[in-house]
Amino acid sequence: AARGDVLSVRGLKVGYGGIQAVKGVDLDVNRGELVTLIGANGAGKTTTLKAITGGVGWSGDIAYMGKSIAGRKAFHLLREGLVMVPEGRGVFARMTITENLLMGAHVRSDGQVQADIDRMFGLFPRLKERAGQLAGTMSGGEQQMLAMARALMSQPKLLLLDEPSMGLSPIMVEKVFEVVRSVHAEGTTILLVEQNARLALQIADRGYVMDSGEVTLTGPAARLLDDPKVRAAYLGEE
Ligand code: ATP
Repeated sequence: AARGDVLSVRGLKVGYGGIQAVKGVDLDVNRGELVTLIGANGAGKTTTLKAITGGVGWSGDIAYMGKSIAGRKAFHLLREGLVMVPEGRGVFARMTITENLLMGAHVRSDGQVQADIDRMFGLFPRLKERAGQLAGTMSGGEQQMLAMARALMSQPKLLLLDEPSMGLSPIMVEKVFEVVRSVHAEGTTILLVEQNARLALQIADRGYVMDSGEVTLTGPAARLLDDPKVRAAYLGEE
């Protein structure tokens, strides 16, 4: 099959000691796409993202922007626009919203940083209202917004989101998905890992279903939403 022009993963394997967490995954992301990776707890989704961002040792073949990333460090990949928002968000709790956003821009050297902060405040009005508040005192959903905004400040060419809906109230989950949808609509290429398979497939172009370290199904998101096996196993339907 044709390889993704932004990301192309072939035969990815990751083991933790004796445990094989990822057992030969193939995955592609093309420019402008929103691709989602869904699956049950422990399927290997987070591990796949960690391999792509240089956070864990792996074997196989990963190409980013057409070039192998074997041996590249997370910091270098970040500078080249490969940016992950981890599960648990990792905002700088003792810095304000604005300071967190500035940290996201530290890999850049252009003069557009203030314009981008304004753009983030447009995308996330809640952050604008709280610009001077310490990030650690924000709600879980607000911190998720901040983590995404901070990642966007680095002008990612590929944004990897690990379970952005984790631990949020249903209303905040809706808001976070709305934001992911508009960030995608503005042209950002996204790989979204989610346990909330229904919402993820509703906003994605394509999806991959992972089970026990392997991709068991892939296709257009609309087709996966209609797939009887997906409906029974991941959408809670009979
Ligand atoms: P979840 O949705 O629960 O986060 P996941 O699909 O993201 O699950 P992973 O976190 O990638 O799954 O975990 C895949 C497997 O690897 C699991 O069996 C997990 O216990 C194991 N695993 C993950 N991290 C480590 C680690 N640091 N050391 C040992 N085993 C690990």
